[in-house]
Amino acid sequence: MKLALIGFGQAGGKVVDAFCAFDETIGGHVVEAAIAVNTATADLRGLEHVTPENRVLIGQSRVKGHGVGADNELGAEVAAADVDEIQTAIDRVPVHDLDAFLIVAGLGGGTGSGGAPVLATHLKRIYNEPVYGLGILPGTDEGGIYTLNAARSFRTFTREVDSLVVFDNDAWRQTGESVESGFERSNRELVERVGRLFAAGEVSSGDHVAESVVDASEIINTLENGIATIGYATQSVDSNTSGILERVSRTSSSTHFGTEHEATNRITSLVRKATLGRLTLPCSVASADKGLVVATGPPDELSRKGIERGRTWLEEETGSMEIRGGDYPRPGADEVGAIVLLSGVTDVPRIEQLQSVAVETKETTSAIRAEQAGDLESLLDTSGELDALF
Ligand code: GDP
Repeated sequence: MKLALIGFGQAGGKVVDAFCAFDETIGGHVVEAAIAVNTATADLRGLEHVTPENRVLIGQSRVKGHGVGADNELGAEVAAADVDEIQTAIDRVPVHDLDAFLIVAGLGGGTGSGGAPVLATHLKRIYNEPVYGLGILPGTDEGGIYTLNAARSFRTFTREVDSLVVFDNDAWRQTGESVESGFERSNRELVERVGRLFAAGEVSSGDHVAESVVDASEIINTLENGIATIGYATQSVDSNTSGILERVSRTSSSTHFGTEHEATNRITSLVRKATLGRLTLPCSVASADKGLVVATGPPDELSRKGIERGRTWLEEETGSMEIRGGDYPRPGADEVGAIVLLSGVTDVPRIEQLQSVAVETKETTSAIRAEQAGDLESLLDTSGELDALF
């Protein structure tokens, strides 16, 4: 499906940039427009795939291009004040060709954390197209202020968008990596999942038409509300030979049965691996309200029976009757994959932990502030011996 991507803040801009690069690599044709919004000039300058006219600097009169310094209330204020400048960039997007907006932001900082929910409210008011969020949670080691920012932004962003796809940096970091290379790797993992999911709904008429290609409306119907998470698993197949199903049609019927069975099992087990492996936001799968299973790879490997079994398995795991399924054929691909989208998830330990740490941080911060104010007062107390100048 066709998206207008809007990256808000540094993480948002970088992920949108990586999304565009990935979309080009896979010929996904998902990105109809890519816009980056920031309060920091330097962050906008570092982008490669967002065109200069689509880089929107906001809050110039308040912060002079230096960013909001992890103050998400200020981020929200400048976004509200300068929303017309963002709208000017959106006005250049052919909205009639769009299926949805996707606002991307790191929720722990200032600009994206505060600005993304403000933009979501604005877009919802103006357009009929769905407005999705892609929210990145900070690592637990980033400190209290990031957690507090993320918890407050998360509450607001979830309320303002049609669905919030969440990526938890904490679940995706690896030991021994620098922060920068860690983000680069995480961004690749993130855009691979989100990019392939939305590309599944954008199979063009020239492409191989499989029996049950996923279309944009299935993604939209799955992403109807609340919090969403994505799982993905792949397995290599030999690209030098034709797909299993085609290969067997040229051989004996018993081999046919054997290899078709193999393709079916492969898809079913990939669906399980995608669901039970690392999700973009780890959660209890049973709490999902809706789901979508997409099998992707060379057309001949996409066993319809496998997708159906995977779909039925996910229905049992979630207890939901709204699990959709389909395929996303990629002729010439050398791997088969399963993308699993779970939406409306409600049992998410990481969010509960984020919120309780945020509440603690808020209480500790106010206690420290009150204490500091008292300490400063007693430091400056000269028992009336000295007067202030004015
Ligand atoms: P902003 O520019 O004020 O919106 O703040 P940032 O986007 O720099 O930071 C917000 C949060 O995003 C941080 O807490 C980091 O956890 C996260 N972050 C920053 N850069 C990246 C990135 O490239 N990838 C990912 N996954 N997370 C990032």
